[in-house]
Amino acid sequence: MLKRGSTIGILGGGQLGRMMATSAAQLGYRVIGYAPDGDNVMGDVAEDFVTAAWDDEAALAAFAARCDVVTWEFENVPVATARGIAGPAIFPDPKALETAQDRLDEKRFIEELGGRPAAYAKVDSSYDLIAAADRLGAPGILKTRRDGYDGKGQWRIANGREAEALNVPETPCIYEAFVEFEAEFSVILVRSQDGETRFWDSTRNEHRGGILAASHFPAGEPIAAQIAEARELARKVADALNYVGVLTLEFFATHEGPIFNEMAPRVHNSGHWTIEGAATSQFENHIRAVAGLPLGDTRTTAAQIEMRNILGSDIENAHSALGDARLHLHDYGKAEASEGRKMGHATLITHDAGL
Ligand code: AMP
Repeated sequence: MLKRGSTIGILGGGQLGRMMATSAAQLGYRVIGYAPDGDNVMGDVAEDFVTAAWDDEAALAAFAARCDVVTWEFENVPVATARGIAGPAIFPDPKALETAQDRLDEKRFIEELGGRPAAYAKVDSSYDLIAAADRLGAPGILKTRRDGYDGKGQWRIANGREAEALNVPETPCIYEAFVEFEAEFSVILVRSQDGETRFWDSTRNEHRGGILAASHFPAGEPIAAQIAEARELARKVADALNYVGVLTLEFFATHEGPIFNEMAPRVHNSGHWTIEGAATSQFENHIRAVAGLPLGDTRTTAAQIEMRNILGSDIENAHSALGDARLHLHDYGKAEASEGRKMGHATLITHDAGL
């Protein structure tokens, strides 16, 4: 159990780290962040923030020397950086990063555990793409295997002609057949150092342009009927990786049951509602897990919840919405409100469903 006043190091500097650092402070821990130059908004709420390149070995060693335990808030932290942390323990095991960073490895890993991803094929050339679209059918989506997020590094392909015309990027990709889903949802769990696992309720996730727009609780059908199977897979993933902390798996709810989309070895945007809507938030439980503390209750405490992301310049007027007393606003404090950028989120909590 991490002693009060100990220091937790967080790799990455975005809003997820900012919310994690807030929970760490609540528990009496200090936080130091580490990330390359950028709008590292975690720095506003951390004791210190180290701005250095992921491969700056000297800076990383000096950072590690100041930490009692290290975790991350960003899934594209290079595996070598995470493995390079010497001295303090690092949770989760960097093996989780390695598995989740490559869409092809991730899908193979999921299949080995009995999960079902969308039909996919490895694509390294135009020829591969044409063959994949022909074999798996179109529409489909070409995705870069690495470094994609929020719909970036993805190209929708409507038919064989578009597959022929597309300029395939010079980077390893996969082609995924389009899943005719009824709804999208995620399973978010937390696993402690001794393997205790707790799940939050699943929400229905609404995406627009590849970006999460909103999460809704209760999720309703068809999601409710598919949660048990999805959780079973998520638990197997967590056990196989000897995972410590919060883990997220995203699914498509289809007529054939839950189809795995992707996993995130971290706290997740679709779990932001847990700050006000669950007995213990994903951020607090992540900190509890990496600190070796007992996990908190994950049950939902409201009848109805809606979390909406606030993108780009919409943040400018967001505070005026607080006239609705049920609303909770989180402004990430980012300087530049570029279009489509996640600037904050708002959670509407309704305790009496009849209201
Ligand atoms: P991803 O970054 O892979 O999670 O993709 C972002 C969003 O694009 C998903 O949440 C879906 O709304 C959509 N999407 C991605 N892959 C597929 C697919 N194979 N079939 C249908 N929709 C998809």
